[in-house]
Amino acid sequence: MKQARHITTELVHHAYQAPAAFSAPQPAVHKASTVLFDNVQDMRTRRWLDKSGYTYGLHGTPTTYQLEERLCSLEGGQQCLLVPSGLNAISTVALGLLSAGDEVLIPDNAYGPNKDFADHELTRWGIRPVLYNPMDVADLQAKITPATTLVWLEAPGSVSMEFPDLIAQVQACRARGVTTVLDNTWGAGLAFQPFDLLADGGSLGVDVSAHALTKYPSGGGDVLMGSIITADAALHMRIKLTHMRLGIGIGANDAELVLRSLSSVALRYRAHDLSARTLAAALQRQSAVVQLLHPAFAGAPGHAHWQQLCGAANQGQGAAAGLFSVVIDPRYDRAAIDKFCDSLQLFRLGYSWGGPMSLVVPYDIDSMRSGGRGSLQAGSVVRFCVGLEDTQDLLQDLAQAWQRAFGTPWQD
Ligand SMILES: *Cc1c(COP(=O)(O)O)cnc(C)c1O
Repeated sequence: MKQARHITTELVHHAYQAPAAFSAPQPAVHKASTVLFDNVQDMRTRRWLDKSGYTYGLHGTPTTYQLEERLCSLEGGQQCLLVPSGLNAISTVALGLLSAGDEVLIPDNAYGPNKDFADHELTRWGIRPVLYNPMDVADLQAKITPATTLVWLEAPGSVSMEFPDLIAQVQACRARGVTTVLDNTWGAGLAFQPFDLLADGGSLGVDVSAHALTKYPSGGGDVLMGSIITADAALHMRIKLTHMRLGIGIGANDAELVLRSLSSVALRYRAHDLSARTLAAALQRQSAVVQLLHPAFAGAPGHAHWQQLCGAANQGQGAAAGLFSVVIDPRYDRAAIDKFCDSLQLFRLGYSWGGPMSLVVPYDIDSMRSGGRGSLQAGSVVRFCVGLEDTQDLLQDLAQAWQRAFGTPWQD
């Protein structure tokens, strides 16, 4: 007589299979380290590198494959790797594509931790980081040497928001056969198409797009994730093998959150943009604001380049992230700037952006640059990330803090 299995065993090897036909708006969340095979032959032959199957949690699940494919659609690429943060997207691209003796070019206004990774980690592997002026294509061209393997691009630059001539930069790199990687966190696949910069079906594009999904694709201020997107299978495979060997993976619950938010990313991006432009225009009217750093505004550094790349979207209104900085008259000292930031009630102090809550950060720009302030005027830089609060409430918040900190009336 066959003895009944113990309930402990029964609960691990249960015979019930739910019917497969289940369809719902959100994809299922598959969680696994171990993935099961049907037999030894299956174990020996199943392939994950081409995404035709599943072999181990770290190598992909239906949930991560779904997210990868949707992100490819968002950015117009062909292949995607998921990583645990935007910064990890930066470091994984570098480790995948650079070798000892290589030079990597980084714009002087790049996301700070990118420069820091290059200075303190890449140098230990014999890779030389070289900074270039993002607003001078000739400077970029002059700094490309036979050892240059990779050029980082960012449009616009972090914090100071200068919009480079991305098209000319990519053309210059292509002419020299150098691989380009764009930090596409600001554009998010929505302001412009990184793999189709001339909007002609793809005759010109970056080679790699690194994106901090932590920002708009997550949209909640509660998930850290990054993506590495390519439009070339061989280039993708080089980074993918490094990604595999480094043991990089993301959690299924985080993938679920980004999948859930992704369907509203275009609507949120537009809402952040509209609100931010209203607030930026209001700040520009204040006499103590000596410079507005928002690429969609005439007179902002690189505005013409933004216009060329992002200006046609939204029936000619263009597209931009809900992020901008202002330079405040140097007659206001650090204490006044700090008081302004501290007096804001809806804009909270905190890093990152793209979530529902508006954030503000004062920056010491001079300590962040090696090549000087470039097109930035003298004064303190304050960066605003505009959330999803009501625009009028945010305006009132700016006005009350302004009056408290600077003692000058807010000009409506
Ligand atoms: C936030 C950010 C990153 C890094 O993203 P994390 O997920 O915070 O590591 C990279 N690049 C840019 C431009 C960013 O704004």
